[in-house]
Amino acid sequence: MAGAGITGLAAAHALAKAGADVAIAERSRTLGGKVATERIDGLVIEHGPDSFLTLRPAALALCAELGLAEEVVPPLAPDTVFVWHAERLVPVPPGTGLVLPTRFLPFLSSPLFSPLEKLRAAMEVAVPARPAAGDLAIGAFLRRRFGDAVVERLAGPLISAIYGAAVDELSLDALMPRLRDAESRHGSLVRAGLAAPRAARATAPAPLVTLRRGMGSLVERIVSRLGRAELMLAADLARIDRAGTRYVARFADGARVEVDGIVLATPAPVAARVLAGIAPAAAEALATITYRGTVAVTLAYEASQLPRPLEGHGFVVPDGALPIAACTWSSAKWPDRAAGGTALLRVTIRSDALLAAGDDDLVEAARGAVARTIGARGAPTVVRVTRWPGAMPRYTVGHLERVARIDAALLPFPGLMVAGAAYRGSGVPDCIAQGQVAAERILQMERVGA
Ligand SMILES: Cc1cc2nc3c(=O)[nH]c(=O)nc-3n(C[C@H](O)[C@H](O)[C@H](O)COP(=O)(O)OP(=O)(O)OC[C@H]3O[C@@H](n4cnc5c(N)ncnc54)[C@H](O)[C@@H]3O)c2cc1C
Repeated sequence: MAGAGITGLAAAHALAKAGADVAIAERSRTLGGKVATERIDGLVIEHGPDSFLTLRPAALALCAELGLAEEVVPPLAPDTVFVWHAERLVPVPPGTGLVLPTRFLPFLSSPLFSPLEKLRAAMEVAVPARPAAGDLAIGAFLRRRFGDAVVERLAGPLISAIYGAAVDELSLDALMPRLRDAESRHGSLVRAGLAAPRAARATAPAPLVTLRRGMGSLVERIVSRLGRAELMLAADLARIDRAGTRYVARFADGARVEVDGIVLATPAPVAARVLAGIAPAAAEALATITYRGTVAVTLAYEASQLPRPLEGHGFVVPDGALPIAACTWSSAKWPDRAAGGTALLRVTIRSDALLAAGDDDLVEAARGAVARTIGARGAPTVVRVTRWPGAMPRYTVGHLERVARIDAALLPFPGLMVAGAAYRGSGVPDCIAQGQVAAERILQMERVGA
């Protein structure tokens, strides 16, 4: 196993559970990769993911298997998310939905849109479905159905906040195939959303949950169950070679390990580099997956520094309206993130100009934005700047074809596979599922060879 992010750890856990000999090589000195929780002075600070989707079951199921079910907590009410519009925070209309709209009336009364823009959006029910002719951008698909305003002020900022890239470049087929399905089955996304049985909507588990003591609990629990798996920290995988039917993993410090199979759970550019010698076609295909950086600035304020308590989960920002992309009100969104009324905020910054700036400028931008939006006054009591350079794989149009090319190029290498955020979903549940699938493939190979 190379890479001890959540993908590599999920794969290692599945292999160790099945009794296989596992070695995990991790370049850094910490485990968990992007999953990084800091607990300090009664605060639970997430430097990476702060939650996971339950619609994709792998994370929830793994928590249950590891005895963490009691730690899984839904978000606090009210669950309002706001959009920064015309110098104020406007609530996202209830029923906007994670994938499909489930109510239309709140949209019609929202101050986010002019009467003409609402009329254009309402005409969605009459926009004919277009037969699929290759992948297209989520933005292009939604603009055609609802008009530009809905994309620029609502869907775009919400979707970008999740996937870390502009809605006009993100792949519909890779990220939201259900939209295309809904269009072809119901002729309209609004009709499809309204058709979903009300009872099912009411009893569904919270779509997004977290762990009470932070996402790091999942990493800690997996690591505690790895048994006799070998953990190699500060082990920088540099190259993979063939040795008969086996593989040799070579490290930057000259160390080498011979193994039956390798799951490359590193970012795609690292996989491309280590495979360049043994599998140049795969390396070339891997290099076509591009990444974007992001910065999380965490700020804590005493209750008295805010004009009123935070009520809701935070806000997103349409392109260019502020130097930040989003702000999560962590202490109002999740239980037990901060003690004694402290407001814990996480500001996301993605503007290319700011990503290259120093920490002081980043903090200044974040402080300015929270002063302007929620009226936070004075100096924050805690500040953290977490830089994730080139951390977010961009699922741009054509992503599924790129992944298919990678898979095809790796076919001649049984037991050598890539898994993780760059390929079949970047959310924590997708990464866990990919790690488990890779582990199962290795186990099957061993069963066949045995
Ligand atoms: C700020 C932020 C917020 C996010 N929020 C959410 C969220 O709320 N919910 C959600 O579901 N997802 C979220 N995500 C996405 C999700 O966290 C990641 O996609 C996921 O954790 C990636 O896991 P991974 O194991 O594929 O990769 P990584 O976590 O990147 O792990 C890869 C590992 O490989 C190691 N490595 C690299 N090179 C080498 C080498 N040469 N040799 C050995 N090891 C190497 C790295 O050090 C790293 O530990 C967020 C991501 C970020 C950055």
